[in-house]
Amino acid sequence: MRTESSCERKRVVILGATGSIGESALKVARDIPDRMEIVGLAANSNAEKLAAAANETRAQSVCLVDETRIDILTRDLEYKPRILGGQEGLLEIARLTNAEMVLVAIVGTGGLRPALAAIEAGKDLAVASKEILVMAGEIVTREARENGTNVLPVDSEHNAIFQCLEGKNSLDVRRIILTASGGPFRETPRKDFDSITPEQALKHPTWNMGPKITIDSATLFNKGLEMIEAHWLFGVEMKRVEVVIHPQSIVHSMVEFADRSTLAQLSYSNMCFPIQYAVTWPDRVPNTLPPLDFSKLSRLEFFTPRYEDFPALNLARRAGETGGTLPAVMNAANEVAVAGFLDRHVRFPDIWQIVEEVMNRHTSVAHPDLDGILQADQWARKEARDMLDR
Ligand code: NDP
Ligand code: MG
Repeated sequence: MRTESSCERKRVVILGATGSIGESALKVARDIPDRMEIVGLAANSNAEKLAAAANETRAQSVCLVDETRIDILTRDLEYKPRILGGQEGLLEIARLTNAEMVLVAIVGTGGLRPALAAIEAGKDLAVASKEILVMAGEIVTREARENGTNVLPVDSEHNAIFQCLEGKNSLDVRRIILTASGGPFRETPRKDFDSITPEQALKHPTWNMGPKITIDSATLFNKGLEMIEAHWLFGVEMKRVEVVIHPQSIVHSMVEFADRSTLAQLSYSNMCFPIQYAVTWPDRVPNTLPPLDFSKLSRLEFFTPRYEDFPALNLARRAGETGGTLPAVMNAANEVAVAGFLDRHVRFPDIWQIVEEVMNRHTSVAHPDLDGILQADQWARKEARDMLDR
């Protein structure tokens, strides 16, 4: 039964408000205004877009990490919120006194410290930034447990799994089956990989997302990162996390239980679905999103991934199984390699070759603390950059 208090508006801070997830979160807030109020907004450097989002939502606090552009933010604001800047400002907005939830949608690893600050301040986290769970899943989930806060997955697959697992005993999970669209090169022969351009790789068949995750979807590193993300979010061993290619992106993931029964969550590929559920959980509330039209869904297909041609999946499995600092190293090397590919310094297959090489050079440290993780991250970035420069 729905209680009075659960029907109140949730006060949410969005970190990464100017990105693809940030935009979807603003749509959700517009769609369910009785349930979601935006009290804080943060971005890196896009002052104009941040100001526009602030003018619309009238968020009480606004943070721009790049302080050299705060004058543009101030110029474009049509009201007087509290303005924060720099890394300190990002931590402060994450701890905002009257927020109940912080949506972490910063691309890459920049969301880690603010996520931990939010947990420490007793906020629930809605996590889109999978990179932070890959780097520091052990720390983030432990801190959340110790502070009694919830970590709600926004990544569509993990949100689906979260929905399938509700009310179930995680000991009864046999397998978590992550679906992957397969990206734009699902059927491209391996021999053609060398000539893939950033423009081709940026055209995702089913999702419209920021550039980094779109390249990750093309290499399948996105799914690799998601395997490790699932392992930490749901406390399931890596060997129970599997991947299946599902080109239609309608089934967002599945859980198979001890009795061999499988639950799945289905919807169109629109990030507003998982963002809304993270915000209104455990309630389900009406919205204006399109319901599935089964008369038009002519087929739902499932295939085994091409593991040989897309080595990211096995590299991620190795990183997740080894644990310690290796996932952070894989993630950091991948970030550098993706940037190198987008800048046309390296070819598409070099992305996983660089990542593998950096992983091979690393000796993983078990149960690292935050400093240990950040050191491994920096080391891997330098190694990967040296390789790019060669
Ligand atoms: P975008 O590139 O579209 O947006 C990134 C956002 O992060 C922007 O608001 C950007 O600000 C901000 N940002 C970047 N670096 C920093 C920093 N150092 N400090 C503070 N803010 C920063 O990314 P997406 O929205 O696509 O992805 C965000 C995260 O969500 C990623 O981790 C991705 O893996 C995950 N995700 C995304 C999905 C999607 O559909 N897009 C689906 C599932 C997960 P500015 O604009 O000022 O640069
Ligand atoms: Mg995903």
